[in-house]
Amino acid sequence: MNPIIIIGAGLAGYTLARELRKLDKTTSLMIITADDGGFYSKPMLSNAFAQNKQATQLVSQSAAQMAAQIDAQVLANTRVNAIDTAAKLIDTTAGRFGYEQLVLAVGAQPIRVPMAGDAAHEVLSVNHVSDYAVFRQQIATIAGPVGDSIDGQHAQHVHVAILGAGLIGCEFADDLRGAGHTVTLIDPNPLPLAALATPALSEGLQAALMARGIALRLGTTAVRLDRDPHGLQLTLADGSALRADIVLSAVGLRADLTLAKAAQLAIGRGILIDATGRTSAPDVYAFGDCAEYAAEDGGQGSTRILPYIAPLMAAARAIARTLTGQITAIDLKPSPVLVKTPSYPLALVAPPQHAVAAGRWEHEQEGSRTISRFYDAQGVMQGFGVAPQESVVRQGLLAQLGKVAV
Ligand code: FAD
Repeated sequence: MNPIIIIGAGLAGYTLARELRKLDKTTSLMIITADDGGFYSKPMLSNAFAQNKQATQLVSQSAAQMAAQIDAQVLANTRVNAIDTAAKLIDTTAGRFGYEQLVLAVGAQPIRVPMAGDAAHEVLSVNHVSDYAVFRQQIATIAGPVGDSIDGQHAQHVHVAILGAGLIGCEFADDLRGAGHTVTLIDPNPLPLAALATPALSEGLQAALMARGIALRLGTTAVRLDRDPHGLQLTLADGSALRADIVLSAVGLRADLTLAKAAQLAIGRGILIDATGRTSAPDVYAFGDCAEYAAEDGGQGSTRILPYIAPLMAAARAIARTLTGQITAIDLKPSPVLVKTPSYPLALVAPPQHAVAAGRWEHEQEGSRTISRFYDAQGVMQGFGVAPQESVVRQGLLAQLGKVAV
């Protein structure tokens, strides 16, 4: 019998493999990945500078160790080029393989900002531990002879301009500043984290980032990047310019649809999946950053891109059961997105899309803590945001979800 094949060895691919092995120790399992197959926790990438962590320290297990641990064949540095869903075959750089069931966990790709200038191609983005290694190396090179050790005494601090003040941009800004670097955060919105947080929380974050010494250039975008003998010059749409040593783009990710498109799977902004993770082709599943999850409440809401760990874990548990014959719906219960900005840590639970138009946000100030609660048209609490957040406050707010305002 052909194996179950998982394409992708990110948190989605490896979590599914582990969940599968809890239920089934014998079915043959193959994981194919274009990267080196080392296991790392991606959220650590935007928290690693302040801890002075090397990329190699973030990889906890090699591909060979993962293969032994989950009793699977891991084909690292192998790209899948095509899927034939009728013949149940995949074509890879290491040959053709038949599958019994196939799971796409191929992740997302950074969106590239269109920019003019002779250094536009030098903009970096970090969506993989290997990108972090490159970013870190560039910082170390500019910082000077002591290389990686940025201790403020011997090394020069580096000016990093970050494009995008969303979750990842704000996390990198706080982290790089924590490592002693100069940071400028640029975003077209009037406040940081504008797409995720309420204005009350975004204002708190803005104040905390500024107090930390991070410069914010809001309401504008970068349009041009040029190199001269002194470094990089970034020109903004408002006509101003700033100098930087490195430009990091954190403007967002787009689901990787290359394989799905070629295989004629149904796609939207991601690979469309039903409540059990199934794509439009038989025996082909998808989840993680590459997927577009089914609508909430069996169809009332809109489909969702959920590029976070909690939904990926829930999907891995459900798909593992479905692959072993117990068809199981993915349980996407509300789970907070934690924004890892130590200056102002936030926890956010977005309200369901279908409730947003008719609902309202209410804000409360408890000392230095801001709490935003979302109530739907019936007065039921359906979302919240809190900062500075801590576990006990977060748990208390989670317990209030689904309850009517008192
Ligand atoms: P990926 O990790 O991108 O894995 C995709 C895999 O597919 C890779 O192994 C790749 O090699 C492989 N692949 C792709 N195409 C092919 C092909 N054709 N052939 C073979 N292999 C292929 N989420 C949170 O919930 N909390 C956080 O605090 C948080 N922090 C984050 C911080 C940063 C800096 C980033 C970038 C993301 C963060 N996220 C966070 C999001 C979270 O990390 C992602 O949602 C998650 O890691 C996505 O995992 P994935 O396996 O779907 O994708």
